[in-house]
Amino acid sequence: MSCDILVIGGGPAGLSAALNARARGRSVLVVSNPPEENPLWRAGQVDNYPGLPGVSGQEMLLAMRRQAEEAGAEFLAGRALSALFMMGSWFISVGPDMYSAKAVVLAAGVARGKKFPGEAEFLGRGVSYCATCDGMLYRNRPVAVLGFSDSARKEADFLRSIGCAVTYFDRPKSCVIQGGEAVESVTCDGKTAAVDAVFLLRPTVAPADLFQGLETENGYVTVDRRMTTNLSGLFAAGDCTGGPLQVAKAVGEGLIAGQSAAAFVAAAERNKP
Ligand SMILES: Cc1cc2nc3c(=O)[nH]c(=O)nc-3n(C[C@H](O)[C@H](O)[C@H](O)COP(=O)(O)OP(=O)(O)OC[C@H]3O[C@@H](n4cnc5c(N)ncnc54)[C@H](O)[C@@H]3O)c2cc1C
Repeated sequence: MSCDILVIGGGPAGLSAALNARARGRSVLVVSNPPEENPLWRAGQVDNYPGLPGVSGQEMLLAMRRQAEEAGAEFLAGRALSALFMMGSWFISVGPDMYSAKAVVLAAGVARGKKFPGEAEFLGRGVSYCATCDGMLYRNRPVAVLGFSDSARKEADFLRSIGCAVTYFDRPKSCVIQGGEAVESVTCDGKTAAVDAVFLLRPTVAPADLFQGLETENGYVTVDRRMTTNLSGLFAAGDCTGGPLQVAKAVGEGLIAGQSAAAFVAAAERNKP
């Protein structure tokens, strides 16, 4: 599928970007996990958002999402796993599928948690971030799932359905992945499992892992006042650009990023030979 603007993240920043890009007549696809897995969902009461005192995070998110949907934004549940810029378009993989867009707004919130020892070393040699993409490689073999969100259990079920013997670690705090040429075992919170693959299913992907060459500072995406990053056609908004980590700031930046992305697409169309 292709669209004008692909938004990564369905929190306040992404929803604001989607709404404002739609207001400029652009087709928009928002890729994100379900709202219940968004951090704001857990806020019992949000008192510092102007005009809506006492509203819960859940109510706020659902209202923002409804508004973006009614404006014509499309939604896709899933995680963006990789991004590639080719011939004037971005290609974003979501699970096993690829989506193209003329511009991207990264509104992925804060990627919490450090990489585990062995994770980078064994990436592609047993370590994977996507069960539905790489699961078939380990059909009928022992694997571990390190699940950090509720939807990770569904990916574990998929692995079981293709015959994998799955050891499931629920939100482990500390893990070490061991092996030689490829993964041989993983130890999480003191328990070791002998496995051929380790699927790390986090709800977020660090921006610099998703976009090769993206400028960041202390893990936050570097942007200018138009929410432009150093990569062509890539804009960023919300918590992923740094503090204050608050809804009002995310919504404001989302507005600018949505408008900037729409202006970028319009300029690209004007300049087309
Ligand atoms: C318990 C709690 C209470 C809070 N209370 C308040 C409050 O009272 N007032 C206030 O202003 N702020 C509050 N906050 C902070 C507020 O939730 C954030 O500042 C706000 O949600 C940031 O919006 P965002 O859109 O930038 O990021 P997020 O809301 O984090 O949204 C980003 C979304 O993108 C998803 N995502 C990340 N990577 C990918 C990927 N690769 N593919 C697909 N999707 C991806 C994430 O899972 C997430 O759902 C609270 C936060 C928490 C946790």
